[in-house]
Amino acid sequence: MTILNAGTRRRTTPAASAPATPDWKTRSVCRNSEMADDFFSTSTAAKKRARALCVGCPVIVECLKNQRQSDGAIYRWGVGGGLDPDQRRALELEELLGNVADLGMARVLVSPRWLHRLKSLRSRCRSLEAVVAALREDGLIVDEVTVRVAVWWSGGEGARMARLAPDDRRSWRQQLRDDYADVVVALHERGARRADIAAYLGIPGTNGAKGVGEVLRAAAVAGMELAA
Ligand code: SF4
Repeated sequence: MTILNAGTRRRTTPAASAPATPDWKTRSVCRNSEMADDFFSTSTAAKKRARALCVGCPVIVECLKNQRQSDGAIYRWGVGGGLDPDQRRALELEELLGNVADLGMARVLVSPRWLHRLKSLRSRCRSLEAVVAALREDGLIVDEVTVRVAVWWSGGEGARMARLAPDDRRSWRQQLRDDYADVVVALHERGARRADIAAYLGIPGTNGAKGVGEVLRAAAVAGMELAA
């Protein structure tokens, strides 16, 4: 499979675009796939198809590790390792906060033994924290960032911001200010860009970045008032 990379205009493949051991690349399911364009499409449906192909790939863990070590255009543009670029950036920011996913355990969570349970939990739980608590009741000890990767791999959104309860009438902007100002400021202080912080929280796009900017401005004003 050979495709034109949208970022660099060079021909490449998801599995072959970054340096890696030949061994895992030879086992990648995208290597000879007819779905090459889906890996670099901006279409949500195409990216979803590419991610679904990744989930059945035997080298998804190796590929994601390799994607994240690579500084190439595929890292910024293509679906790889079962994640799209926003999700990989979110994972990068998780690590800035000291949260490192156990990719082997995430793989277990999307295995036939656990996948149905994970999908059920992701649809009924309002937060990653709630999914972790439910899995703990099942006897599986796993952290939030690992569950987040598994939820992404299973086709879910895996947003860091919790879904509001039906009787909670706040807007997402208000929720961001009330519940996530600390993490926004912490990521900003570690050098994260506003758009990436928004992607980390699960509110990508222009509005998400604006919302993050509002939080940072409010935090700066509060800091100045405290100092005065
Ligand atoms: S995880 Fe996806 S991008 Fe990576 S080798 Fe497998 S199919 Fe290709």
